[in-house]
Amino acid sequence: MAEDITYSFVIPVYNEETGLPELFSRMETTLEKLDGNAEILLIDDGSKDKSYEILSAQNKKDSRFKVIKFSRNFGHQNAVTAGMDLSKGKAVIIMDADLQDPPEVVFDLITQWKSGFDVIHAVRQSRVGESWFKLFTANAFYRFLEKITETKIVRNAGDFRLMDRKVVDAFCRLREQHRFIRGLSCWVGFKQSCVLYERQARYAGETKYPLKKMVKLAVNAITSFSDWPLQLAFKIGMFVSCLSFITALSLIFLSFTDIMLVPGWASIMVFMGFLNGMMMMGLIGIYVGRIFEQTKSRPLYIVEEFKEGN
Ligand code: UDP
Ligand code: MG
Repeated sequence: MAEDITYSFVIPVYNEETGLPELFSRMETTLEKLDGNAEILLIDDGSKDKSYEILSAQNKKDSRFKVIKFSRNFGHQNAVTAGMDLSKGKAVIIMDADLQDPPEVVFDLITQWKSGFDVIHAVRQSRVGESWFKLFTANAFYRFLEKITETKIVRNAGDFRLMDRKVVDAFCRLREQHRFIRGLSCWVGFKQSCVLYERQARYAGETKYPLKKMVKLAVNAITSFSDWPLQLAFKIGMFVSCLSFITALSLIFLSFTDIMLVPGWASIMVFMGFLNGMMMMGLIGIYVGRIFEQTKSRPLYIVEEFKEGN
């Protein structure tokens, strides 16, 4: 008989060896209080430390903890996608492995699910232990994203959320290469709701989202959900073209007069035009690069091993 699973937890793991034992013990306590069977899908996203060995040992001890080992690091968003692809529960809960998303909040998510909501986002009311720089940039970014996209993306929600099976099935059909899960989970629609919570400091280890990865995620979010940059490139391009046309006319006019031009003027104009062209090309290049990635249709991740039961 197939397993009847009510709750699937999807937890991506990348070099989290120091925090895993605490995660297991907090999850075990949480599972005891749940009103249905549960599975925990732990995705080892190509960790270089002992994470995989620790996950495997936990799987041996308790087969509710299932381990998906990637062949290399494919990134957080793809790790979460793999977990969702392989999940069997009627409700799927995505969480960080570092206990920043307290497992206890899951009960609030479940209450909302039972009252009929399909996607419940856990929204960060406050964030302990994160730098003012991260808080400020995250806030500014979400405000900006709200302005340039048609999809209503919930502000201050990370990836901690519960999704009903029908939402997960719809989500799994979206196979875009550059994934911004917080956006996609709003884009799919259904009945959406939020639960407020206090985001904790990392239990152990360091953030796996340094500035470079944060910028990459932000670029992904913008280019996946908006063509506003392309429209901007068009407008600026048109403006500069008009300006150079007017300049050309003025130069023709000036050549018939005795007025002397300031030396260096022409080279500055040429340089400005060149710079503008390069910037606009770069912007368009980002979108072309995404088309290139998508047309290759490579899988989003490669699973080396899936430890389901004992
Ligand atoms: N993670 C992952 N692959 C990566 C980077 C991160 O699976 O390439 C995992 C990480 O182990 C954690 C979650 O994704 O469980 C979120 O990462 P992190 O907590 O470092 O991000 P932050 O909460 O600081 O934004
Ligand atoms: Mg975290």
